Amino acid sequence: MNVITNYFKSLLLWELLIGLKLTGRYFFAKKITVQYPEEKTPQSFRFRGLHALRRYANGEERCIACKLCEAVCPALSITIDSAQREDGTRRTTRYDIDLFKCIYCGFCEEACPVDAIVETRLFEYHFESRDGTVMTKDKLLAMGDRYEKEIAADRAKDAAYR
Ligand code: SF4
Ligand code: SF4
Repeated sequence: MNVITNYFKSLLLWELLIGLKLTGRYFFAKKITVQYPEEKTPQSFRFRGLHALRRYANGEERCIACKLCEAVCPALSITIDSAQREDGTRRTTRYDIDLFKCIYCGFCEEACPVDAIVETRLFEYHFESRDGTVMTKDKLLAMGDRYEKEIAADRAKDAAYR
């Protein structure tokens, strides 16, 4: 009986019809393909993109060179040197993140006690030389200055969910 059923199924191209039925269902369904880069998918406020170092409203760097982020980084991509300033406070003299090593896990921002190192929503970037793969302190602070408004809003949303 099975042989006869299979014979008629193959004769009537049954499996092809089943396949076409599936194709037809998706053909008329709402499209989920996004035409990147003209269209973008929604981003979470916890999105982990390119890093930034933040400042306080008075312009002072938040980072106190405690090196917790360097210690917690599983990819060993953060390198920090620090020194004491004339006013007795400690600040970094070097803060590098090697983007080739970074796995964007977010541990650094979780570990930071003063919300200094954060990951922004920026994910569209490229390098033109090997030097560009390292985010230096100047670059990180410039990122923080540029995106502070967005970062502050995202951190406030994050705090509300905790
Ligand atoms: S996101 Fe993760 S891997 Fe990248 S610097 Fe921070 S802790 Fe290291
Ligand atoms: S970024 Fe935060 S965790 Fe890292 S050294 Fe500065 S204060 Fe410490």
